[in-house]
Amino acid sequence: MNGHFAAVDNGNGSSPDSNAHNFEHGIQVINEDKQYNTNLNEYLHETHVAEAGFNYHLISVFGSQSTGKSTLLNHLFGTQFSVMSERERRQTTKGIWMAKNKNEGHMADNILVMDVEGTDGRERGEDQDFERKSALFALATSEVLIVNIWEHQVGLYQGANMGLLKTVFEVNMQLFLKDKQNQTRSLLFFVIRDHIGVTPLANLRNTLIQDLTHIWSSISKPAGLENSKIEDYFDFAFAALPHKILQPEKFITEVQNLGSRFTAGHRNKDADSSDDQEFTGGVFLPEYHRRIPADGLSIYAEGVWDQIVSNKDLDLPTQQELLAQFRCDEIAREVQVAFDAAISPLEEQQAQSTHAGKPAVLPDLGQIGAEAREKCVKNFETQASRYHKGVYTTKRAELEDKIDVRLKALYQAHLTAAHKAGVTAFSEAVTNAVKAGQKGGTYEFAEIVEKQKSKTLEMFKKEAQSLAIPGVAWSNFKPQYLIFEKELDQVSARLRKEEMRRLAIRVERWVKSRLGDAIGLEFNKLGSGRGGSGAPESGEKPSSEKDIWDRVWKAFMGIVGEAEGRFTDRAKSFEASDDEVQVGLWRLRRKSWVALREKIEEEVMESNILMKLRENFEDKFRYDQDGVPRIWRPSDDIEGIYTRARESTLGLVPLLSRFRLTSTGAPPDLAEFVGPQPHGVEVGDEEDLTSIGGVDEDEGKSLEEETTILSEPKSQDLVVRFKKMADGVYVEAKRSAIGGITQ
Ligand code: GDP
Ligand code: MG
Repeated sequence: MNGHFAAVDNGNGSSPDSNAHNFEHGIQVINEDKQYNTNLNEYLHETHVAEAGFNYHLISVFGSQSTGKSTLLNHLFGTQFSVMSERERRQTTKGIWMAKNKNEGHMADNILVMDVEGTDGRERGEDQDFERKSALFALATSEVLIVNIWEHQVGLYQGANMGLLKTVFEVNMQLFLKDKQNQTRSLLFFVIRDHIGVTPLANLRNTLIQDLTHIWSSISKPAGLENSKIEDYFDFAFAALPHKILQPEKFITEVQNLGSRFTAGHRNKDADSSDDQEFTGGVFLPEYHRRIPADGLSIYAEGVWDQIVSNKDLDLPTQQELLAQFRCDEIAREVQVAFDAAISPLEEQQAQSTHAGKPAVLPDLGQIGAEAREKCVKNFETQASRYHKGVYTTKRAELEDKIDVRLKALYQAHLTAAHKAGVTAFSEAVTNAVKAGQKGGTYEFAEIVEKQKSKTLEMFKKEAQSLAIPGVAWSNFKPQYLIFEKELDQVSARLRKEEMRRLAIRVERWVKSRLGDAIGLEFNKLGSGRGGSGAPESGEKPSSEKDIWDRVWKAFMGIVGEAEGRFTDRAKSFEASDDEVQVGLWRLRRKSWVALREKIEEEVMESNILMKLRENFEDKFRYDQDGVPRIWRPSDDIEGIYTRARESTLGLVPLLSRFRLTSTGAPPDLAEFVGPQPHGVEVGDEEDLTSIGGVDEDEGKSLEEETTILSEPKSQDLVVRFKKMADGVYVEAKRSAIGGITQ
């Protein structure tokens, strides 16, 4: 049914050959071969009617041929329809012509007039067919049908005019039966020509109304409409004109008066329908208008004519829907040109930057997008909303969908870029602030993160909000904002973990340095055997030596305890979770132990420990219990003192070789000290964790081994070396004792 719509090549006013046609005489809408002229659209654009929306009017003139119809229209509307010359009396108007009123001043805007070929006087069936078709066409499009009639024809019921009217009525029934909701009415405007003036117009009018009523009653009416009255469909108006040739001046004046009636008017609600006071203003009542937007008139007329010519049932609502579909699609294409011009460059820019791996954040995207969308939809609305409401609503939604798909893609990619840039900026800002803080000595990690997070979130929020289009649900990017916030939290967690690492390293360093001092001190004490020689005979070690491991352990525990406190405080300050803190402390304890072991190993390195033993021995050997240096005399029991001091010092070797606490006689419970391995941490995974004997059971190293400071061979070696050294000291003492006598 809508085949013709698809095939239409509809020239519009801006086409390059818009001046190619000569519209001097108007345009022949339907030619003598009953073909429709699609140039009508071009004509409507040329005459600026096309842009008028509903602000135009359509009038058709009917009547027998050579009754001065064309002459009348030319005088009334300044048109140039062909008029039969006085000499050759033959039909000049072929088919249906249309022209725009040129006498606009005192009339309504944009009056289009259709001059319909007269049919009267010919009996040929062909012409009756055309009469019917043109009547249908006129009724489907026109608000006013001028019926041109000689005065002497009035009352001739059998006359050709009456045949024409009968056709009009029948056709009207056929047309508006399909469209029962339709409130459209038409005005039959009788113009009585060559009015001599003997019979007043009022009488002529009555006669005509009687005839019309008679005709109406004679036509067969479809079921349900048997009782319908002519007034249900038609209004009537009447005018009389004097003889153009006999009373030329009067003719001109009366034509002018007639012209002034072609203005907008409205019905007086309470008036009696037979009363002339029924109307106020001119003949154009709103209900006569066919409500076809001017820019769709050509397409509509074409569709209507196509149905008529092929003798199909003319169904105006369907025609209007088809028109709406065609025009809405056309308008949608037109309005998208500007949208495309605004959006395509952005799409290209985005595609390029994405391709280059650097997704761009497009400046002013929200504003450009919203404006382009608004303009596009508004333009569509302005033009398309005049068409069938249902179709318009659907097509508008389609258009919005179409442009929204593009905007959405742009916006999403834009936000993805903003998201990426935001995450990078956040991570960098925090890292830089921490670096600056480290240089400056102090910083609050949690504060830095909080500040940068809210700053970055604010930026993203602004970006997301700049894309919001009021009343457009999809342009609410709150979910993307929440996703962004979540990712910032994840990045924060990662950065916090790094910060924990840095904190751990700082605390470990601190532990090492403290251990260096404290453990060094304890071992240095070995160098002084002071107070020890008081009871060396008993074999007991002086308390400062015997409980060296207790003191080492105590110092160690003190330092680790303090370190744990520092670590916990700092970690809590940047909102590390309890689990994270537990892991950190566990690692700290392990590393601290390892650090302690290293420190001890350093202390018991051969040269170091030998020196300590020597000092210890010398202290015991060379000083008496009051700490006074001994001056050896030959009478002194040098050998005895030497033996006691040596044995006392040698007693240190087994003591030092194993880390034992006096309270238990056993090594410290390292497993208890380190504590259970926190969930989710594997020693093997943490490359920087050294395994600890007795703690990491599967490592195959026992606590015994872990706490063995000097191996058996090393101890023996140490004993041998120490003895040699002690012997030397003894010999020297002996010599000095003898030497002291000789002196
Ligand atoms: P149409 O075929 O109805 O369009 O008639 P035309 O406008 O071509 O005119 C037909 C003939 O009637 C022409 O020769 C006109 O000069 C003549 N004519 C036009 N107006 C009048 C009029 O008011 N009275 C009379 N008697 N002749 C007229
Ligand atoms: Mg004519």
